[in-house]
Amino acid sequence: MKLRNMNALKSAIVDTYTMATWPWRARFRQVHARVGMAPVMVLFYHRVADRDVTPWTITCDDFRRHLDYLQAKFEIVSLAEGQRRIAMRFNTDPCVAITFDDGYGDNSEFAIPELNARQMPATYFVTLGNVLSGEPFAHDAKLGISARPNSVAELREMIAGGNIEIGGHTRTHADIGSLHDPARIQDEVIDATRELEQLIDQPIRYFAFPFGLPANLNDAAINLLRQNGILAFCSAYGGYNFPGDDPYHIQRIHGDSELSRLRNWLTIDPRKVAGVPRYQPRYTRLPESSGEQA
Ligand SMILES: [Zn+2]
Repeated sequence: MKLRNMNALKSAIVDTYTMATWPWRARFRQVHARVGMAPVMVLFYHRVADRDVTPWTITCDDFRRHLDYLQAKFEIVSLAEGQRRIAMRFNTDPCVAITFDDGYGDNSEFAIPELNARQMPATYFVTLGNVLSGEPFAHDAKLGISARPNSVAELREMIAGGNIEIGGHTRTHADIGSLHDPARIQDEVIDATRELEQLIDQPIRYFAFPFGLPANLNDAAINLLRQNGILAFCSAYGGYNFPGDDPYHIQRIHGDSELSRLRNWLTIDPRKVAGVPRYQPRYTRLPESSGEQA
């Protein structure tokens, strides 16, 4: 009960801030729309379930509320369409792309059918090792929770549904930012992604770094992804993508179960526009004729 009151108070504070800055938000949105500079916002979720609710779980009711809000207020686009608008340097309306990380079996019970029913596209980043072993993710095991990962059959079913694209999320959910051994990076980032492709019988175009903070990114891995034809990588520390930003690095915002915080982000928080510096990889030159993006 106490926790609930506390959350209600926090939500009220966030809503007050959102309303207080509303004139700024409305003007920002208007000006940016007019010149084709509206942001592409990409959300990341992990697990949608009502049992064993962890900090990276959102309940089915809350997820439904998110989708209602997103559908009412924004154009929902695929990650590929979002990336195209960033690369083309033109987007007239704020749009939102939905992603998931890790590959939780629970998502096949509610989240994916719900997305399919609404015809909403999403990109679903999967850690190969857990799909193969069926073992719970290390970050759940630490909490004594054994939420199961998706099976290969479930991933294939998602693809067949027509709205979900599968992406790579390493072999062992390693912190790639801390890796230095080129063979290990190759295995986590490229080999695991290729094996996942084989399993699902579908090419993989996108990759998300586990944990996704600047410290968890790795330029050697990013360059390897580019050399191997992956179209972009995703981080997970917040931040907007504006047309003209680096289209190879898609910044993502947490699909916070508190709708007030999500609303604050998606209606453009002035503090976050200025206060979230974009991680800038040092790209190495690609071999010629490999289709480098401008
Ligand atoms: Zn993850």
